[in-house]
Amino acid sequence: MAERAALDGNSERPGYLLGADALIPAEVLRDIAPLAEQRPLREPVDGVAEKGYRPSQSLIDFVRARDLTCRAPGCDQPAIDCDVDHTVPHSRGGSTHASNLKCLCRFHHLVKTFWGWRDRQLPDGTVIWTLPDAQTYITTPGSAVLFPTLLAPTVGPPTPPVCPPSGERSLKMPRRKFSRVGNRARYIAAERARNRQEVEASRPPEKPATPEQPGDDPPPF
Ligand SMILES: [Zn+2]
Repeated sequence: MAERAALDGNSERPGYLLGADALIPAEVLRDIAPLAEQRPLREPVDGVAEKGYRPSQSLIDFVRARDLTCRAPGCDQPAIDCDVDHTVPHSRGGSTHASNLKCLCRFHHLVKTFWGWRDRQLPDGTVIWTLPDAQTYITTPGSAVLFPTLLAPTVGPPTPPVCPPSGERSLKMPRRKFSRVGNRARYIAAERARNRQEVEASRPPEKPATPEQPGDDPPPF
């Protein structure tokens, strides 16, 4: 990735090798530009979303160039290995537009979908996360330093407000009725009771006490 001015020799801003997290010096850009296949980045048109759920390749290219990495807090998975996620789900009216799309690695895509991570995206690509513990994190697109023009606000079509889905959609682990320690204590107590019953059942019945016969006593002399 490189700015047109750097390829033309009018800027000393370095390029960036997507997926390798490496900078390309401007002088190298000038050397390789005539030999490389150049694919101009098409910027999104304000207010015009693409039809359908899946973004076009040019829109995917723009979002990956803007984000550079996964947009989850603290994740640096390269954008080229990421899914392109609708921040407001397409099924709930979210547009297929750069202002509503961002890169998420597969792990964080699943975390968002199933573990209740909530996100809100601003027109410049900033994402505000709210995690299940109510902590809030803000992530900005990776191109903020190298290619700040890609953060120019992209205005999508009106998007319906995000409402929590009916019922709780996030997965929850089933709650234990009893703790492991409690279960073990119950098991031991039940085994002991069973053993006691078996011992009692196998014991021979006690003989009834026999009254003493007076004739058996030795004579008193
Ligand atoms: Zn990630």
